[in-house]
Amino acid sequence: MDSPAAPATPALSKSAQKRAEKAERLAATKIERRAKEKAARKEKRRIKAEKRAASELDSADEAEKERKKKKPKLEFGGRVLIDLGFDVKMFDKEINSLCSQLAYTYSANRQASYPFSLICSSVNGRTRDRLEATSDAAYKRWINTEWWEEGYERLWSGNALSTAPGTENEDMPRNSCPETEDGTENIKRSMVYLTADSEEELTELLPHEIYIIGGIVDRNRFKNLPDLSKNLCLDKAKESGIRTACLPIGRYLENLPTRKVLTVNQVFEIMLKWVETRDWETSLYAVIPKRKFLPGGKNGGKEDSAVAPEEDVLTRNEAAAESEAC
Ligand code: SAH
Repeated sequence: MDSPAAPATPALSKSAQKRAEKAERLAATKIERRAKEKAARKEKRRIKAEKRAASELDSADEAEKERKKKKPKLEFGGRVLIDLGFDVKMFDKEINSLCSQLAYTYSANRQASYPFSLICSSVNGRTRDRLEATSDAAYKRWINTEWWEEGYERLWSGNALSTAPGTENEDMPRNSCPETEDGTENIKRSMVYLTADSEEELTELLPHEIYIIGGIVDRNRFKNLPDLSKNLCLDKAKESGIRTACLPIGRYLENLPTRKVLTVNQVFEIMLKWVETRDWETSLYAVIPKRKFLPGGKNGGKEDSAVAPEEDVLTRNEAAAESEAC
């Protein structure tokens, strides 16, 4: 008997045939497809890496910004001392006003590109009470600011005198000046008491000098007095043997008299602006309120009268300051 014939390859159904053809096609293009897929994955990775790099750059940018914020600002090196030794000469309202001016001063210093080291000397009496009573004695936490109970004589007395309790600021080196006559004279030579009553005009600010601003709000009341002490700051400076200077207002601002009396924070802000721009005109215009330039306005084009009208010394900031707690 014949052995059974090997079964012929069964005829494929149509669909099986299609599947087989497809498998064949796929097999033929497999290498090509794999290559394409690989390229696609590579491209995807590249795009992802690019995005990551961009966002990393963003975060690097952020980190740099943060670092700059934390980094101590560039320092001009100069120091400004606010002489608070006029406490007994002021009314309560004036003391409040002064405290507001101190707060404006501090705030301007914090925002400045080139801040000064600040010292407030002769912190006593009602001024101190007012500072203590404001915002939980926030003044003690002001950075780059020292508070001295002693007067500015401490700068040349060389004694390790006390700082107002709790206000020690280690950032600033103690002024341990030599107690010799020469040492004292050198220190005094580096000090300039700013006052509108000075015959000298400031031409520039120098990093090694200490500029004193009188911490007083008196609306020029004392100009009225017949006695010799009507130029409070000028007289005090002379007595201490310290040079004096006024801001060069008359020289740069038409319509404004040379003896223009400004507030503590205005004087300070003008100084900050000068350090930034090295230009008095820009600095003065930036700070002195525009209304002061109005032709025909009070004192416009005239020498400051001995008794300046109250609103002449009351400025934008001070007016705002008076309505606020310091
Ligand atoms: N009658 C006070 C005026 C106080 S004004 C006095 O005897 O000076 C507050 C302080 O700002 C002044 O003591 C002074 O240090 C400073 N100041 C105001 N106007 C000034 C000006 N034009 N030039 C220089 N300093 C000025």
